[in-house]
Formats: sequence, C-alpha cells, structure tokens
Amino acid sequence: MCEECLVKFVERKVERTLREYGMIERGDKLLVALSGGKDSSALLHIIKGLVPDVKLTCLHIDLGVEGFSEQCRLKAEELASQEGVELEVVELRDFLGCTMSELASRRGKACSPCGLARRYILNYYGNLRRATKIATGHNLDDVLAVLWDLYVAGDLLEAIKLQPVTRLVHPKALPRIKPLIELTDLELKAYVDVRALPYSSAQCPLGRESKLNRRKKLIDTIESMRPSFKHTFFKTHVKRVSPLLSPLLASRASNWKSCTRCGMPSKGEICGMCRLKECLKRG
Ligand code: AMP
Ligand code: ZN
Repeated sequence: MCEECLVKFVERKVERTLREYGMIERGDKLLVALSGGKDSSALLHIIKGLVPDVKLTCLHIDLGVEGFSEQCRLKAEELASQEGVELEVVELRDFLGCTMSELASRRGKACSPCGLARRYILNYYGNLRRATKIATGHNLDDVLAVLWDLYVAGDLLEAIKLQPVTRLVHPKALPRIKPLIELTDLELKAYVDVRALPYSSAQCPLGRESKLNRRKKLIDTIESMRPSFKHTFFKTHVKRVSPLLSPLLASRASNWKSCTRCGMPSKGEICGMCRLKECLKRG
C-alpha cells in the first residue's frame, strides 16, 4: 500500500468498526485513555477526524515507571496539544501512595496491580468527568494475544468478556469501546508514522509486554502461513462463540456489587483497588 491508501484503509476500518458495533452514539462524551503509545495516539487522531463534534476529554495515567513513564507522559501531552484537546494527567502515586517502580521493587511482579489500577482510575475519572464511555487503543494483536491464552486454557467465560464494546451491569461501570480492534500493530505503527503523530515506542521495563509479545509473535507466524487467520479468529470469537456463550455470562453478570469503601464496581465487599491500597499500607 502507498501511504495515501494506508491512511484511507486505517481510517475507513475504524469508521466501519464504530458503525458496526454502535460505539459512539448521539450525546456521548468520551474519555479517551491516552497512554502516549502509538495505538492511543492513532485513536485520538482518528476519532477527532471521523467524529469531529463528539465531546471528548483525555486522560493519561502517569504510572511512575522509571525510564518509561516520563517519555509516555511527554508524548501524550504533545499529542493532546497538537490535537487541541483537553488532557488530564493523573499520577498513580496519588491514588496508590506509591509509583509502579516502587511497587515492583516491593512486590516483584507489577503487571496485574498495574492493569487493575489503570482500569480503576479510568473508570473513576470517567465518572468524575461525567463521561458516558471510555475509549482505549486496544488493537487486534493485543486482543488476540490475550484470547489465545484464554482459549487454550478453556476459560471461555473470561474470553467472551473481551469484546469491541464491554458493558458491566453497575451504575458506575462505564461502557468501554475499542475502536482499533480490527487493526494490527503493523498497520497502526505505519499509520502513526505516516501521519507523523507524537508517540513513545518505549517498552515497559517491568516486563508488562514480554508475555504478550511472545504470543503476538506466535500469532504472526500462524498468520504468515495462513493469511487472514487473525481476522478469522477475531470474527469467530465475536460472531460465533460469544453469542453462543453470552447467556451463560449474563446469568453471572448481575453479581456486581458496590465496594463498601469507595462505591465503585466490585465482585466482593471490597474492590481490588481498595484491597491493594490496604495491602500496601500494611506493607
Ligand atoms: P496496553 O495495555 O498498554 O496495551 O494499553 C491498552 C490501552 O489502554 C491503551 O491503548 C490506552 O488506551 C490505555 N492505556 C494504557 N496505559 C495507559 C496510561 N498509562 N494512561 C492512560 N491510558 C492507558
Ligand atoms: Zn473500593
């Protein structure tokens, strides 16, 4: 593809995804999760171009990972100012009392608390800023890498939670949309380069990406031997497996409660974030 065709291809794909899954509706206010990486940079730029009148606000979470987060924050700020949108930066330390680097040095593995904190903070700020939906830059490769492990483990109920649009039954759980879900890493990398958008290509030194990247490589190998494997896998998941299993998931979905401490969605009495905070306080 020449550069012009690539740009058209990517933008049309997002336009189709938005339409097919009814991701943006009249009156929506989006909270765009800007990580400073290529995907969310592309996401903001494309949404601004396709739906210029949508209300949106951006949020960047400074995770405080030394040698990584500084660059991410800088690029998120650069992009937001280039696009002329409001960006709020939240420091993880203010929420948790410590940075991700500090947490990793205390607990070793930091990936799952990091994911938990990011999801919580996005939802918390989405509510605070009266957003109606949260938009993230998850792409096809990200989603398939996670789906792969879930299918292999037979954890289909967890797998069907991975969707282009996710809604939890709780008044404070904002719907999440993934407009880039049908685009690959390669397509998005080429897009941000052609469009010369600011982004950081730094890899998290805490190893967040390493397992995911190994799965991505495996799936890339299959794709090279069986073209369109990725799209087939994704479509099978969304159009065939998920409708079959969603009644099962729905019967369990009503289990969401409100955390007795912070009021946010929780599976138990106290949510994961409040438990993590308590755990850290106790050292
Ligand atoms: P990742 O899990 O790093 O692949 O990120 C997936 C998506 O989550 C990104 O495209 C962003 O939309 C969002 N995200 C990840 N990290 C951050 C962050 N530090 N601040 C805001 N949004 C983030
Ligand atoms: Zn809580």
